[in-house]
Amino acid sequence: MSGMGAKQTGNAGYGVDKNKEDKKDKKAFSDAPRPGQKPRSGKGRQGRQNIRNPEDKRARQQSQNTGKKPCPVASKCGGCKWIGKSYEEQLAMKATQFRRLMEPFGKPESIIGMEQPLHYRNKVHAVFGEDKWHNTISGTYEEKSHKIVPLDSCLIENAKADEIIVSIRGLLKSFKIRPYNEDTDFGLLRHVLVRVGYATGQIMVVLVLASPILPSRNNFVKALLKLHPEITTIVVNVNNRSTSMVLGDKEQVIYGKGYIEDVLCGRTFRISPKSFYQVNPVQTEKLYGKAMEYAQLTGQETVLDAYCGTGTIGLIASDRAAQVIGVELNPDAVRDAVTNARRNQVSNIQFYTNDAGQFLLEMATQEVKLDVLFLDPPRSGSSEEFLRAALTMKPERIVYISCNPETLVRDLRILRKGGYQVQKSVGVDMFPFTDNLESVCLLSRGHAGH
Ligand code: SAH
Repeated sequence: MSGMGAKQTGNAGYGVDKNKEDKKDKKAFSDAPRPGQKPRSGKGRQGRQNIRNPEDKRARQQSQNTGKKPCPVASKCGGCKWIGKSYEEQLAMKATQFRRLMEPFGKPESIIGMEQPLHYRNKVHAVFGEDKWHNTISGTYEEKSHKIVPLDSCLIENAKADEIIVSIRGLLKSFKIRPYNEDTDFGLLRHVLVRVGYATGQIMVVLVLASPILPSRNNFVKALLKLHPEITTIVVNVNNRSTSMVLGDKEQVIYGKGYIEDVLCGRTFRISPKSFYQVNPVQTEKLYGKAMEYAQLTGQETVLDAYCGTGTIGLIASDRAAQVIGVELNPDAVRDAVTNARRNQVSNIQFYTNDAGQFLLEMATQEVKLDVLFLDPPRSGSSEEFLRAALTMKPERIVYISCNPETLVRDLRILRKGGYQVQKSVGVDMFPFTDNLESVCLLSRGHAGH
């Protein structure tokens, strides 16, 4: 079991990594010519479609599945691998996959799907560049490459965010802002990131620049707000490194507060440009709702929220527990978690910046009594150290939230060997049109509950 530690970065399957922004932001788009851009030859969709052409068949299938115009570049972008399948088929496939993986532990509950499975991504990223005629283009990286595939809209992204990105592209020329060119190191605008608060409607625009000065900054802000008064904050982020990371370290707020807020399960959360926040808020509420149901809190418990990010799960649990402890490795996320506790007037929660395994081991050594353990680790799953410490502490219930069923099953085996049984489990579809599967499991000591 060596190499199971938190530092493990291997992708154990099922597509994109929850924390890898560059991969996560892959998406599909429309083929419509963009303002000031010549249509690409041979790509137009004019004329009668040839029904014997497999491309056309795929396009028809897509339209049937989504009720929208087909996305002709879905295969290049790779952001929605399952766009050719109906949503029922996708859910059935995910349910079967999860049932098979969970077979040794008992039968899962029915998978929780979305009622409206399109445009669910509330975080949208576009890379900027030039085509061969030096027209500014914005879009996504072609799968496994740094070639930009232009796009205006995407079937799984928030439509308003897509519109804002197109508007920004339209403004660049009059402000003499050139997109950044990775090969020549010339130009300014590298990326635009838009995050939308689902419940609040607040919108954050992050302009990622290769150097700190945005020309005619105030007029640019004015022009953008005139087109989109719904934008609540604009941040300039400077990324002058040659890296596949979208965001650099330096930030300057040029309009509004520099963050947006969103409401999840009755709690308000601050989302700053770099914080991790689930991209599908509708399904996140269902996921956390299940996690709370499984935890069966009565108000008396000591609860640990491990791998807590900005403290979402712990804060949602806090009014049903005696005390909550959160642990997370990323200090920025912990800072947001502390702010979120204050924002929600929660006083029975404490956050620690630490490796979850090490922290749990310390808790075990100090013989802290733990009643309910939530864990929501990254795709690589939990660590041997963490699971061992959990087995020593013997919490009444363990609620495991997983974004990778393969590492989940690996970890469940260890917990089962240590005397825990899976009582309940359920898949939640957080990423329609992709093969990613999120799930929640309840474990307790004694007999299996299935
Ligand atoms: N529960 C949160 C975050 C889940 S994502 C939410 O739903 O929003 C997984 C989190 O685990 C990330 O915030 C990541 O920074 C954190 N993480 C990764 N490795 C860790 C480790 N070894 N110890 C503690 N936290 C870790």
